Amino acid sequence: MSLYGDYDPQNIFAQIIRGEAPCYKLYEDDEVLAFLDLFPQSPGHSLVIPKRAAARNLLEIDPDSLGPLMRATQRLAKVLVEELQPDGVQVAQFNGAPAGQTVFHLHMHVIPRFAGQGLGIHAANKADPAELEALQARLVKRLAS
Ligand code: AMP
Repeated sequence: MSLYGDYDPQNIFAQIIRGEAPCYKLYEDDEVLAFLDLFPQSPGHSLVIPKRAAARNLLEIDPDSLGPLMRATQRLAKVLVEELQPDGVQVAQFNGAPAGQTVFHLHMHVIPRFAGQGLGIHAANKADPAELEALQARLVKRLAS
């Protein structure tokens, strides 16, 4: 899908927001939802999405919705750094398939990066559910403190 087109309310992130599909939820309020990526590029790879906006990408979102999205992204980045102590943390966002986008509901990637592990854009393997559950528990606890 290119940059241009209509928002598909059946995309997987819209289903997650409506509770029709599961996720490893980390944080939720009226504006945003944060959850673990199922195909993590590194342990703790998380996504933050706007809940109210039917925006496929950064170009389409109401600017007023960006504040809550970026605040939640920063908070999650801090928590990931505190809990997992990576060497770096990457915040990424893709617009349109040629730019690497595969799910067409705006989302921010927050990816702990560890020295020597390389910088993948898309991971090939689905995460082990037990590992995701353990990470979820650690991060939810840290977010609540
Ligand atoms: P992008 O390439 O920027 O569109 O990234 C989409 C991301 O969503 C990828 O990192 C996928 O691994 C991730 N993803 C796709 N489906 C799910 C899902 N059901 N739960 C969590 N993450 C997902």
